[in-house]
Amino acid sequence: MARMARRPLAELRKELLGVHGIGPETADDILLYACGHPVFVVDAYTRRILARHGLVRPNIGYEELRAVFETRFPADVPMFKEYHGLIVHTAKEFCRRTPQCAQCPLRARLKRGQPLSV
Ligand code: SF4
Repeated sequence: MARMARRPLAELRKELLGVHGIGPETADDILLYACGHPVFVVDAYTRRILARHGLVRPNIGYEELRAVFETRFPADVPMFKEYHGLIVHTAKEFCRRTPQCAQCPLRARLKRGQPLSV
């Protein structure tokens, strides 16, 4: 694992994506959590929360959504881990299939007419 973590990020990501059964989210999970590379892990929760707030299109692709984070935030591994964890927590606790906006800490970020259903 340590040898793998020392490999250049782009090269390692390409190699992981070439492994049968490893998609972008799993590859980025490995890169961020196991190898400590500054990669933002995107999942359905990320897309759902951002789309419900009108920040991205509901059908935005994985790489485009990953770029939204990676081009706007510093390449900070602990921050990416925490950010992803907070998104997962928020989605599981509040932003479910039927959003529980009244109890959600992000409700102040909603604009008129939101959440947009996704
Ligand atoms: S305020 Fe509503 S739409 Fe926004 S994250 Fe919370 S539950 Fe989801």
